[in-house]
Amino acid sequence: MFPLDKFKELKTPFYFYDTDLLQKTVETALNAANRYGYNIHYAVKANANPRILSIISKNGLGADCVSGGEIKAALNAGFPADKIVFAGVGKADWEINIGLDAGIFCFNVESVQELEVINELAYAKNKIASVALRINPEVDACTHHHITTGKQENKFGINLDQISHVLDKLKQLSSVKLIGLHFHIGSQLTDLDPFRILCSQAVNIQKQLEEHKITVEHINFGGGLGINYENPEQNPIPDFNGYFEIFHRHFPLKVSQQIHFEPGRSIIGQSGTLISRVLYVKEGTSKKFAVLDAGFTDLIRPAFYGAYHKIENISSEEPVEIYDVVGPICESSDCFGKQIALNKCRRGDFIALRSAGAYGEIMASQYNCRQLPDSYFYDSL
Ligand SMILES: *Cc1c(COP(=O)(O)O)cnc(C)c1O
Repeated sequence: MFPLDKFKELKTPFYFYDTDLLQKTVETALNAANRYGYNIHYAVKANANPRILSIISKNGLGADCVSGGEIKAALNAGFPADKIVFAGVGKADWEINIGLDAGIFCFNVESVQELEVINELAYAKNKIASVALRINPEVDACTHHHITTGKQENKFGINLDQISHVLDKLKQLSSVKLIGLHFHIGSQLTDLDPFRILCSQAVNIQKQLEEHKITVEHINFGGGLGINYENPEQNPIPDFNGYFEIFHRHFPLKVSQQIHFEPGRSIIGQSGTLISRVLYVKEGTSKKFAVLDAGFTDLIRPAFYGAYHKIENISSEEPVEIYDVVGPICESSDCFGKQIALNKCRRGDFIALRSAGAYGEIMASQYNCRQLPDSYFYDSL
């Protein structure tokens, strides 16, 4: 599946995107969502490569942005402003103004003070900003603690016991209009049960709103659907049908209510691979190291969250040996995997780090004065 003859001419490391798989994944997600009339906003933070964004926007998805820069990137890639949602616990004034000027669909608001600032900035422009309250539903996503977001000790969202206070505040603000509720409980959820619990929490919160005589038109359940990092080959496309069915079964829609989702990883994760070359095979006293030309500046997830990526030597069919696979960066955490079975490695072999489409290229840095990785696409190589 990897065009090795073409890779030989390219400088490594680079990201290689399977554009066919991306297209199929987007279509699968759309078909599954359309069964229930659900709306999808791609979470731009997972991967903002312009070519990737344009493939996704051409399919008619909306965009979920968490910064002014992401709003600009989404608009440049052709996402219509009225399908852009803007979340984030720390929106700066200039970022809010970008959203107001573009006329985005909705601001997902995370605090009373933010609500006041959006109200002020919208008033100054003689506009009404549509807002959704990001509620912290206190659902434990049972995922890695760095990527869980829906618990009370997390910085995100408005806590349940503060909802009434926020609703009272809203009554005094004339340049914001409450249109929805927003939730996002975490990322890389492979056990779907927390989503069921989220639904019942959302039902309860709606009841609380009704006590204030408020019915919101839009419910946004965020992202978080996980992908299979262990066996990407057998599981290239996540189970979108099973995912949306949970919400269909456990969140009864009111008349003229719309449901929204913000998947990131599940859309782009499996379509990207980081390709690098073996620089050296170093024989330690008790172990062998495969030293790659890719490091955590290119793919930070293993160093950052202890995340697993399947590693393959795609140049070799020689018998398997055991390696610690490391990068060139001057930090001990620059390790992609310990005790990894790879076909015997030689200098110059191509090593693939699979399932790297989400939170890979977009998190690359220039630490050690390194260059950012290039990107290539299956259909244009
Ligand atoms: C990160 C994020 C997402 C996307 O999460 P995935 O796990 O990549 O699907 C969606 N919504 C919000 C608010 C986020 O912060």
